[in-house]
Amino acid sequence: MDCLFCKIVEGTIPSTKVYEDEYVYAFKDIQPQAPVHLLVIPKKHIASLNEAEPGDAELLGRVTLAAQRVAKEAGLGDSGYRVLTNVGKDSGQVVFHIHFHVLGGEKLGALNA
Ligand code: 5GP
Ligand code: ZN
Repeated sequence: MDCLFCKIVEGTIPSTKVYEDEYVYAFKDIQPQAPVHLLVIPKKHIASLNEAEPGDAELLGRVTLAAQRVAKEAGLGDSGYRVLTNVGKDSGQVVFHIHFHVLGGEKLGALNA
């Protein structure tokens, strides 16, 4: 499958890894929108939240907790941070392998700003 983030998980495209386990991979965004901008993904290919199924519930819980972990490891535990996932055309989703952005390290703008 021609998926950028599957290739990042496989290691055929390089990335700056911040966390990995059996199910989850997390790395630095190549074009950071905040002082800390990480991406947390399941190793399993799911195109977006729209394609997630009930059987993915535990996996998505693992991804969410990995987002908490990498945010804390980046020093954002006290200051706070934003976790978001874009879904489809109107959101501006560019990479169709579900990913959770972890943004922080500064006061973030209001959503839709
Ligand atoms: P989306 O708009 O799909 O929610 O976000 C995709 C994100 O992936 C963007 O923030 C973009 O900067 C990031 N990105 C795109 N290509 C690469 C890449 O090759 N490596 C890394 N580390 N991030 C990427
Ligand atoms: Zn993929």
